[in-house]
Amino acid sequence: MRLPQERNHFFRERFKAEEPAQRRDAVLIDVDSIIPNLALMKLSHYLKKRRKRVILAKETGLHWRSRHVYASSVFQGLHTESRIRELRSNHGDSLQIGGTGVDPALRLPDEIESLIPDYSLYPGMSFGIGFLTRGCPHRCSFCIVPHKDGDLRKVADLDAVLSPGWNRLVLLDDNLLAYHDAAALLRGLIHRCVAVNFNQTLDIRYIDETIAKLLLQTDSRDYSFKKRLFYFSLNSKALIEIVREKLALLKDLKSSELRFVCMYGYDTSLSDDIARFSFLCQRRISPFTQKFQPIQGIPTYAPFEYFDCDPEPLAHLHFPQNGRNFERFLKWAGRKYAEQFGRLYMPLVDRIFQYNFKYAKAHYINTLAGTRDSSRKRRISKDS
Ligand code: SF4
Repeated sequence: MRLPQERNHFFRERFKAEEPAQRRDAVLIDVDSIIPNLALMKLSHYLKKRRKRVILAKETGLHWRSRHVYASSVFQGLHTESRIRELRSNHGDSLQIGGTGVDPALRLPDEIESLIPDYSLYPGMSFGIGFLTRGCPHRCSFCIVPHKDGDLRKVADLDAVLSPGWNRLVLLDDNLLAYHDAAALLRGLIHRCVAVNFNQTLDIRYIDETIAKLLLQTDSRDYSFKKRLFYFSLNSKALIEIVREKLALLKDLKSSELRFVCMYGYDTSLSDDIARFSFLCQRRISPFTQKFQPIQGIPTYAPFEYFDCDPEPLAHLHFPQNGRNFERFLKWAGRKYAEQFGRLYMPLVDRIFQYNFKYAKAHYINTLAGTRDSSRKRRISKDS
């Protein structure tokens, strides 16, 4: 699954101030990606080979003269939709748009897909990026990967994704450990002393003694490459026992070197979420909570009553790192509570603003008041 990124230095520098594009210039629009957009990097290489001046842009009104505007959108959502509307209105027929946010089935033509990415597109980038494998043998209902990339297969050797001069690599593989010879892939990273960010998380279910030993030798990093970190996922309560068993094989890792991406807002109830977060909390492992994002072609899960138990334990969960990220989940839970019951659950509200953004508490309560009132009205009309 997709991992939200902790921003690194390249992010600030990605959109350089540019002269307005002329008619022949190619403008590449990175609509919403939060890491370098590999498709745009390959397209940039292709266009430069054709002697085009390539501009990476965010605000496109400036480049209205260009007749060659290519946009890539990764996510779906209101922000992305409004940006796409703006792009269509600014560029009309000159615009071509692709990416999983628009159509998961769209592919770059083979002659572009096979090119080395143009690393100069993102100034300040100091790591290679790419896939060793694509696809996944699983078919999780919330995930775009089975629709987009299909079955798991190897697509490149390590040499093809490492960038000369850097031994840092962001791997975008959907499920690297599920590959039948994942051990060989890990050995390659170890022997080349590559610092690697497993960007889409590792599937803990595939860890056995061999893989565990190799992972312990792998220089796995966070997205900033500043600290040792292994990302896994814990998207359902049913996985807790498996995670417990696999963590025993990784006992030499510190809790601070582990992070579990926990998706919420899809099909888990409050009791499921409390079980997942309490499990991590007991082990002093911090979650990285991630709200389910609808993706084109994937049905959003049918709404259900989220609160199936007392929310009180939520208000007592504290993690050693990543507290603000967990507060985002708590804010979402507080809103769900107001929607479901037509009132605020103050212990949760107090917990959310216990450490950070205390000044924003009144505003949060005010925004929930609207939710609460419309929920009350709905409940009254249901009862009458
Ligand atoms: S296991 Fe495969 S299908 Fe499931 S979330 Fe991960 S990548 Fe997607």
